[in-house]
Amino acid sequence: MKIHHLTVAESLRSLDSRADGLASAEAERRQHEFGPNEVSHARQASLVRRFLHQFTHFFALVLWAAAALAFVSAWQEPGQGMGTLGFAILGVILVNGVFSFIQEYRAERALASLRRLLPGEVKVLRDSQVCLLPASVLVPGDVLLLEEGDQVPADARVLETHAARVNNATLTGESVPELRAAGPSDEEDLVHSPNVVLAGTFLTTGRLRALVFATGMQTEFGRIAHLTQATAAELSPLQREIVRLGHIVAALATALGGVFFLIGRALGLPPWENLLFAIGIIVANVPEGLLPTVTLALAMASQRMARRNVVVRDLVSVETLGSATVICTDKTGTLTENRMEARALFVASGRHAVSPQALAALAAQASSLFEGARLCHSLQEVRRDGKPVLAGDPMEVALVHLGTRARPDPLEARREDELPFDPERKRLSTLHRMPEGRVLHTKGALESVLSLCREVETEQGVRPLTPEVAGRFRSAGEALAREGLRVLAFAYRRLPEGVAPSQWEEDLVLSGLVGLEDPIRPEVPAAIQRCREAGIRVILVTGDHPSTAEAVARQVGLVRSERPRVLTSAELRRLSDTQLQIALDAPEVLFARVAPVDKRRVVMALKRKREVVAVTGDGVNDAPALKEAHIGIAMGLAGTDVAREAADVVLADDNFASIVAAVEEGRAVYANIRKFLTYILTSNVPEVVPYLAFVLLRIPLPLSILQILAVDLGTDMLPALALGAEPPHARVMHQPPSAFRQRLLDAPLLLRAYLFLGVMEAAAGMAAFFFVLERGGWSYGEPLAWNAPLHLRAMSACLAAIVVMQVANVLLCRTERAPTFSVRLRDNPLMRVAVAVELLLLGFILYTPWGNHVFATAPLPVSLWLFVLPFAVGMLALEEGRKAWVRRP
Ligand code: ADP
Ligand code: MG
Repeated sequence: MKIHHLTVAESLRSLDSRADGLASAEAERRQHEFGPNEVSHARQASLVRRFLHQFTHFFALVLWAAAALAFVSAWQEPGQGMGTLGFAILGVILVNGVFSFIQEYRAERALASLRRLLPGEVKVLRDSQVCLLPASVLVPGDVLLLEEGDQVPADARVLETHAARVNNATLTGESVPELRAAGPSDEEDLVHSPNVVLAGTFLTTGRLRALVFATGMQTEFGRIAHLTQATAAELSPLQREIVRLGHIVAALATALGGVFFLIGRALGLPPWENLLFAIGIIVANVPEGLLPTVTLALAMASQRMARRNVVVRDLVSVETLGSATVICTDKTGTLTENRMEARALFVASGRHAVSPQALAALAAQASSLFEGARLCHSLQEVRRDGKPVLAGDPMEVALVHLGTRARPDPLEARREDELPFDPERKRLSTLHRMPEGRVLHTKGALESVLSLCREVETEQGVRPLTPEVAGRFRSAGEALAREGLRVLAFAYRRLPEGVAPSQWEEDLVLSGLVGLEDPIRPEVPAAIQRCREAGIRVILVTGDHPSTAEAVARQVGLVRSERPRVLTSAELRRLSDTQLQIALDAPEVLFARVAPVDKRRVVMALKRKREVVAVTGDGVNDAPALKEAHIGIAMGLAGTDVAREAADVVLADDNFASIVAAVEEGRAVYANIRKFLTYILTSNVPEVVPYLAFVLLRIPLPLSILQILAVDLGTDMLPALALGAEPPHARVMHQPPSAFRQRLLDAPLLLRAYLFLGVMEAAAGMAAFFFVLERGGWSYGEPLAWNAPLHLRAMSACLAAIVVMQVANVLLCRTERAPTFSVRLRDNPLMRVAVAVELLLLGFILYTPWGNHVFATAPLPVSLWLFVLPFAVGMLALEEGRKAWVRRP
């Protein structure tokens, strides 16, 4: 018989376990036998395929074609050095492929290691105690405790449930939550049996206890995971744009090569020389390492984000974060610390501060208030690192603490049942068996509890709740909320036997209100200010009372005007979509007492207003809003697994300020990609101009193809990467979001790279070439053998000039508008290394016999360096002038 056909007792016996779990020693033994509870990734095989792909994609094919041409002409016309060129291009394909592969691999590793940062702790009974353990240590026979929002970590047989429902969508596609039950089932198929919970699915409501019967790859999820893992990651919009751009550039280069081949024919160049020339044009322009560099830049940004407590789940989110225009944020835990403390009490006799004296005085007259505070919660006592702690909502911990301070006497109360909290009901009720009988305690939002009360507890005993008394409680609650306190109302009832659960929360006795203070996080006001400067709107969306919400919004600087627009779910539901969109035009809007379903509507309305929306969430019911938003942000500490699964981004510290830091990093990536695009495109000009001059002016060739490759794939490589790793500059948070949503490659960038910086570099290269030729006694029109010492020296001078200009270029590409030296060199350690390596490589090419041999170069005298230096300084100065000009007011 399969486990879902067995009774609870039989199931336990079949796995040799007990209702209070395994002993640790036995669990350890089983872990050896069954292995860790992990779904292993069947990736290894595809690694080889992805490596091979580096040699078969579009650019690689262009290069293969170039190599083939070189070999064909070497065979037709031996002795012209075409064979060497062919091998050189093959070398390029190899170097480039390996380099790209390493970059992609590193990017992927970075993401994988981020995923490991996300904690996956589960509650397990071991040695009859609840322990918090990583999901990977689960073994068959373990007894799990799961509650609302938890992801099921292994396949398990339900032992006991409290109104638990699961969402099996990940396995069966059925997205309506299904009720779980403990009894044996006669369902044939395990997957559809109501007494099992399956790995990878979620508990949407309630609580349950379950016996693990399959772990890791043995689970239903593990089995299908095998089939679905192969799906490749989707490219982000930036990456897609880069691919498109690369294709355009390569096509243009090829066309240009073709055109010049024909011009060469017309001018009567010898065919091999002409071909060499066409290949040179193509190779000079193909942007070889572009996509891997972009991917790596995104991955490095994701790691910087992780250091700032924001864990992205894919690279797409890195750039969407950078273009966010609106952040809809929670209040509790995100703007505030979620470190609650009771500050004020309101009972029939009036308002009291929370002080030892007041508590002592109130202990007798408001005894059921304190009893409720101690009993009415959904906390769990668990062992973490061997010590017992109360795990759960910090607000409830604070209330239990308050209750025990006022009434430290032992309470004899066994919990029998509960009506769980959910943000629609805004209250929680728990049922307790006490010596005097059954008692129901309820706590929740004042308006949700007050309507259930018929009586009130006073110094003189229980009295009817007159409209006048109810009014006093209401205005007291309002006053506490206006101080920014979170207000909770308490009520209770002695419950006779035989009342149906649907009638439990009726005829309650109101016992009092507690006002809790939750300090705002100190870094939040500055973060809100930064959003303001960056043109990002922040909208508070909370389930808390409108007055509390407004008070907190004021404290953090979100609300400055006298009367902001405050919308509640009730009002929201009266607005049509159009009216809601118009309401969102108000300069200061906040949403209070909103149910999670309405949060999604707010997100949709903002999306229709063409905003890029980031939204935070923690509960099960937030999942739709998180999915709907461009960027769903889940809470790492207080959030449920459901929210984390639905989100694109997880906040490790739940802090609003971290979101703003991540936006800054996202914007920096965009700016950085523009920087290295400018850098790479610039050097294409000094690489093409020599070929034009060679054909059109009939001069000796100023730069060989191998030398072009030495720049593109040698000296340029690390500096481009270093530009991709630039830390965010101060300016990125002083620009509107629209600056980060444009095309990467726009006219200003192209003009700057090709017509401004590129032209200067070409001028330097050509000037250096002629400088050496002139000094060597060459006169215009005189032919020069390609391997004549003077020609080699002149080509080396051209190469050296280009590299020196690129050193200046990498420095000035660090800013687009701000003064070049307003950014400090030491903020980017990679930059110094990159420039050093660039110069060392040049030294190697020019001053070692090996470099001279391979790249057809010759050592250069000091006078050449002195000749080139002013060009670099001149470029810095001219570019500085251009930046000043675009900055002019
Ligand atoms: P928030 O956005 O402030 O976290 P929630 O949706 O979590 O809002 O809660 C809405 C309201 O429900 C709170 O203002 C409070 O009155 C009530 N509430 C929250 N948590 C609990 C709880 N554990 N027990 C009873 N009532 C609660
Ligand atoms: Mg909450």
